[in-house]
Amino acid sequence: MQNKKQTIWEKDDEQKLNAFCEDYRVFLSGHKTERENVAGMEEELRKAGAKTLEEAVAEGKPLQPGEVVYTDMMKKSLLVFRIGQRPMTDGLRLLGAHIDSPRLDLKQHPLYEDTDLALFDTHYYGGIKKYQWTALPMALHGVVARKDGSVTEICIGEDADDPVFGVSDLLIHLASKQMAKPASEAVEGENLNILVGSRPLADQKDEDVKDAVKANILRLLKEKYDMEDDDFVSAEIEVVPAGPARDYGLDRSMIMGYGQDDKVCAYPSFRAIMDEKHPEFTSICLLTDKEEIGSVGATGTHSRFYENTLAEVMNIQGCYSELELRRLLTRTKVLSSDVSAGFDPDYPDVMDKNNCAYLGRGPVFNKYTGARGKSGSNDANAEYIAFLRKLMDENNIIYQTSELGKVDAGGGGTIAYILANLGMEVIDFGVAVLNMHAPWEITSKADIYEAYNAYRAFLK
Ligand code: MN
Ligand code: MN
Repeated sequence: MQNKKQTIWEKDDEQKLNAFCEDYRVFLSGHKTERENVAGMEEELRKAGAKTLEEAVAEGKPLQPGEVVYTDMMKKSLLVFRIGQRPMTDGLRLLGAHIDSPRLDLKQHPLYEDTDLALFDTHYYGGIKKYQWTALPMALHGVVARKDGSVTEICIGEDADDPVFGVSDLLIHLASKQMAKPASEAVEGENLNILVGSRPLADQKDEDVKDAVKANILRLLKEKYDMEDDDFVSAEIEVVPAGPARDYGLDRSMIMGYGQDDKVCAYPSFRAIMDEKHPEFTSICLLTDKEEIGSVGATGTHSRFYENTLAEVMNIQGCYSELELRRLLTRTKVLSSDVSAGFDPDYPDVMDKNNCAYLGRGPVFNKYTGARGKSGSNDANAEYIAFLRKLMDENNIIYQTSELGKVDAGGGGTIAYILANLGMEVIDFGVAVLNMHAPWEITSKADIYEAYNAYRAFLK
């Protein structure tokens, strides 16, 4: 509410705000990929005594109000249910967000040697300004799956004494041609190669060892991870900025971290369903993968996995039929959360000042997203927005409304329209970010905490 005088900082216990944001900062630092995010939250769920869907199905008896059941899809997307006081068929309250973030993925044959340097070839994931990803310390996160069925997790570059990696950039002294190019071409996607070694294999018996630096890297990978060159074919290794998220600003009012799009919404959504223990309606937290490349695939929001799981839980509760499932979907209200563009005083030209998001003014409702004439947007219903305004005001939540930039400036999509296709009431909601899709993104702690409060109010 732009004309409320009170700020989020003043309205609540600042200690609680800071404690929540510190939990978030630590979680964000330790869970940079979708797989790590799912694993970390499943650990929390187990600690809290939640059941897996498989356990609940095996028990074969209805879950009690307040009970939590969860499942994941291929360890990359997560679905958490908390049973409400009312029958499930009365409808659901759903919090959705995505846990994949822009990064550089290793190609299937990544390792090569060129002029005594060993490098990994990458294919970037999601929309990035390529020039932002050079000359930075980077870490490798992911898994190697072998033919024998074993899977090894890899994480190198996060411990203080780990080595780091990176993409080199051209020295300014020789960059006159590069600097004259448009920014979109200054660094080419095919040149986003990760430098991983420069030392040739020692004790070479065979003087003709080709690519001795690459051979040495393969020796290290064999020693440490028991992997061969061919095992990269069945690996998923993401190259992400190395190091923890940090407090940002002299007043420590902000957080700078990798992957806040969209973990800055995913984490508070997850915490809200964990903390709001006696909801009236059954609550769902849906944390999805592949949003940054179109919500496709078995783990993206387009996947039938979500409806299938809903059918399973209805079945456990003894209320499943195809018709009841369809009815339930249309009785469901959703906060589809994704980050919004924060107003940046350095770049005012792309924003309409009356209809954009400001850091620190609370979580953001976007009636619509889309680009060039709302194309591709879920355009939320006026009646649903009125319902949410009332809910937010009754719970003293400070919020704002925005669009993603000026009408012709560009735009973006979210998962909102996919959920809306099922007949749910859906609105885009989320936290404003500066540096969106850059290696290090910035958010306001006030917005993070108030988003969490808003989620709790919505589930309660
Ligand atoms: Mn996003
Ligand atoms: Mn994004």
